[in-house]
Amino acid sequence: MKDIGIIAVGGYNEVGRNMTAIKIGKDIVVMDMGIRLDRVQIHEDTDVESLHASDLIAMGAIPDDSIMSHVDGKVRAIACTHGHLDHIGAISKLAHKYKAPIIATPFTADLINQEIKSERIFGVENPVMPMSAGERYQVTPDIELEFVRVQHSIVDCVFAAIHTKQGIILYANDFKIDRSPTLGEPPDFARLKALGKEGVVALITETTNASISGKTPSEQIAKDLVWDVLMGTEESKSGVMVTTFSSHIARIRSIIEAAHKMGRKPVLLGRSMEKYWGTAVRTGYAERNEGLTVYGRRKSVDKALKRIMTEGKDKYLPIMTGHQGEPGAILSRVANGETEYLVESGDKVVFSAGIIPQPLNISNRYTVETKLKMRGARVYDNIHVSGHACREDHWELLRMINPEHVIPSHGNLVSHGNYLMMAEDTGYSLGSNIHLVRNGQELLLE
Ligand SMILES: [Zn+2]
Repeated sequence: MKDIGIIAVGGYNEVGRNMTAIKIGKDIVVMDMGIRLDRVQIHEDTDVESLHASDLIAMGAIPDDSIMSHVDGKVRAIACTHGHLDHIGAISKLAHKYKAPIIATPFTADLINQEIKSERIFGVENPVMPMSAGERYQVTPDIELEFVRVQHSIVDCVFAAIHTKQGIILYANDFKIDRSPTLGEPPDFARLKALGKEGVVALITETTNASISGKTPSEQIAKDLVWDVLMGTEESKSGVMVTTFSSHIARIRSIIEAAHKMGRKPVLLGRSMEKYWGTAVRTGYAERNEGLTVYGRRKSVDKALKRIMTEGKDKYLPIMTGHQGEPGAILSRVANGETEYLVESGDKVVFSAGIIPQPLNISNRYTVETKLKMRGARVYDNIHVSGHACREDHWELLRMINPEHVIPSHGNLVSHGNYLMMAEDTGYSLGSNIHLVRNGQELLLE
């Protein structure tokens, strides 16, 4: 029997820059290559596209894959589970070091291709192979990679099941157990249960929200919250701006639907809104929407905002970037009075997003909210539900999969610790079949 090695390259000490190498004998499957954006944003005017991999590694922004040069094996495939930047954002900096195809679902693969295209230092020539949930790829005669449908805050998200002679390794980053999603199907519970029966050697899972008790509400609840705020008011003539994650296509579709119900024209504003919406249209997750306009470039955004002012704010629902208060995003520019969109007393600003709890975001978000309030805006905060499983969702997955070994990833020691206590409640125990692995370490399952 060949040994299985789990090599924690990145994302085991933090939320961000995920990368795991799974070694079966001398064959390696790399899961995810992500970036940790707060390490980049802290330096003003950092242009990631023109930074060298070694500089980004030194900043702690991308996984330190130097450990891979000491590993006795060959990378046969790189697979990404979804299109968030903490899972694909380092592809353009690291993938060229490995002679292996990049495998991802169609929406994710499209985003990866865009990352590779915008890269200015490295020529990434690895073939990008789209593979849908439910399909399989033969990595070597002994190893097969299967994608299993799950739900998350971005469309086309999957678990990766790596089938080996020693059993299955299930890579579960990221997910929520959502039985009533507003876009796409619920997780493939039948397949997950079948994998559990076949025999899972190791489950590698995120712990992002394992410190939060209970269950993550469905995306349908988020839709209800957004609709309740947008339509549940007598002040239906006031200006309304909505900001949310530009990669959260399901949420944006709910907001667009609400705009039509309100009799307002939805307008998507901002470069990343244009990027993700365009990707969704190309891959069939959104239709070319009658009455929806999208503006990416600064000049066209400014023109659109000017037109909204002349035609009447009550005729439009602008959906824009800037929910974390990012300087330079459209909402910050509106708050600064840098556009012709005038915020007046009683105008509503809806944050369909939580604050990502990092000091930089908290400070930026405080700044933008305060500036908006000083102009008279009414702020609706946290009209949002998370895309990450909470503690009881983890309990459910763990019992469904029933793995021999559990390896928490994608989190910090606090969230790993909370996951661990839950797992011990189900009968696992730290050191024997739950393993705390830190960045740069290899766990050998013999
Ligand atoms: Zn994610």
